[in-house]
Amino acid sequence: MTIFEEVKELVDVPTAARSYGVEVHQGNMALCPFHRERHPSCKLYKDHYYCFGCQAHGDVIRLVQELFRLTPIEAVKQINSDFGLGLDVDKPPDMEKINIRRQEIARQKAEQARVEHMYDTLLRYFTLLDKYKMCYAPKSPDDETDRRFVYALQNIGYAEYMLETWGSFDKEYQEEIKPEVDRIEREYKRIHDEWGE
Ligand SMILES: [Zn+2]
Repeated sequence: MTIFEEVKELVDVPTAARSYGVEVHQGNMALCPFHRERHPSCKLYKDHYYCFGCQAHGDVIRLVQELFRLTPIEAVKQINSDFGLGLDVDKPPDMEKINIRRQEIARQKAEQARVEHMYDTLLRYFTLLDKYKMCYAPKSPDDETDRRFVYALQNIGYAEYMLETWGSFDKEYQEEIKPEVDRIEREYKRIHDEWGE
């Protein structure tokens, strides 16, 4: 949990608003501290506020920020000290950790997408060759042999092998054969463009 989340969990908006002198009326409607008004139009919820007059809104940290013109971390420190929360606000910001984690997830996703694309390439290649083999096989001994059929015969064994063993390749090996899969992808595109399905 970040220090921001901790503060939000420990201090609710109405409590903070009251202690900082905001006039809170029935139903947690407050006189908006951000615009001049005589009738309360700022609704305070436990975890956020919203003003129907000037649309000011935010969580408890935002409230304190706006009230005292602070940066988010300054607001956190202010609340921490005013409410005696005893949080260690000077520890290195968890945001750093969060960002690293986010980057890690993004990297994993990209990696996953890349691996899926490679598998997809092998599958499409095999499927196309299988189609060629079925559809363009000579019907009688006198038929002229279709080049798609010949091509399929020559390559389908390899395509099938790649596809079947793909799942057992570890990450490193998948990385290693990337150029080969790229070649197959170009090859697929070439025959698909030239000969169709
Ligand atoms: Zn307002």
